[in-house]
Amino acid sequence: MSLLEELYKEILLRHYKRPLNFGGLENPTVRQPGVNPSCGDSLELELRLEDGRIAEAAWKGQGCAISMASASLMSELIKGQTLPQALELAHKFKAMIIDGAEPAPELGDLKALAGVHKLHARVKCATLAWHTLEEALKE
Ligand code: ZN
Repeated sequence: MSLLEELYKEILLRHYKRPLNFGGLENPTVRQPGVNPSCGDSLELELRLEDGRIAEAAWKGQGCAISMASASLMSELIKGQTLPQALELAHKFKAMIIDGAEPAPELGDLKALAGVHKLHARVKCATLAWHTLEEALKE
């Protein structure tokens, strides 16, 4: 394994073991469940929207390391973003995972998941949180 792969693995394991924003919000504006039956990953995303921005984000659930790390990193990244910005991030993340696009700089540590593109069976694990976010922002 290369040094870079080691580093990425460490980022993912850190978020899996100690996920950020794990739990619930006092007064969520939106609550959205998401399920990936092919792996058994499930989560519930809560957002508090204020003035067209995501003021707070939290989630809980259980699943494999890839799905949990993706949700943890996402919940941190979308805080403070406007809704169009958050959807743009979802678009860029999915381009990286599904189409194998170069990781956009805005994705930060989420680039650690770029290798999932080659693990077809795990693509849905990585994108679960993001699909859930898109569903949550639909209304
Ligand atoms: Zn999974």
